[in-house]
Amino acid sequence: MRFATLFFLGAAALLAQTHPTLEFATKAGPLKLTAIRHASFMLQAGKQVIHVDPWSQGNFAGLPAADFILITHTHADHLDLKALALVRRDSTVVVAPAAAAAQIPGARIMKNGDKLQLGPFDIEALPMYNVKRGPSAGQVFHEKGRGNGYLLTYGGFRFYIAGDTEGIPEMRALKNIHAALIPMNLPYTMPPEEAAEAVKAFHPKVAIPYHYRGSDLSVFEKALAGSGVEVKLLDWYH
Ligand SMILES: [Zn+2]
Repeated sequence: MRFATLFFLGAAALLAQTHPTLEFATKAGPLKLTAIRHASFMLQAGKQVIHVDPWSQGNFAGLPAADFILITHTHADHLDLKALALVRRDSTVVVAPAAAAAQIPGARIMKNGDKLQLGPFDIEALPMYNVKRGPSAGQVFHEKGRGNGYLLTYGGFRFYIAGDTEGIPEMRALKNIHAALIPMNLPYTMPPEEAAEAVKAFHPKVAIPYHYRGSDLSVFEKALAGSGVEVKLLDWYH
């Protein structure tokens, strides 16, 4: 009985540690990405922790609390007050676009184009929006200006968090991106072939699909084969 209990606790502890991770070398030391679920992830660098779009459907057991939290927009899979409370401390700086900040006590507002330094990280808020896809004619799921993608720079390493977006001109015009998190799911963002097309336009060194539930990632991978963009697949629904 005791053995079984210990085994169970051991397995549970192990489960808390199974999130997929990637580590990038920067001039200031490693930048580590931990994929939690869907669009929820954690970045760690220089002993600082950033959570992005923490979501209750992810497992936060054993993960450190945030020094900084970035929220992209108001939809429930991105702005989740319950998950936010799990990773927020009194000293945590929460950054969000105005529509999301209105629901988060103490959040700092960033709008598209704003820049802010958070500890060792330089953050720029970028547009994320639908050009054509929406719930009905004349409407889009994500309106331009309402949500933020983010460009995070650490030790010269430029990490692009696209947010829920189609392959918008502002994405295609990005330069010198080292790693990019790219959404691909219908109907809310874009299909993998369109995502690959946009990625080819701005040519990050590494492209990582996220927010991809229901999409065939092999389409994205094949479309970028031979392009010089390295595709890294992580299981965001583990
Ligand atoms: Zn979403």
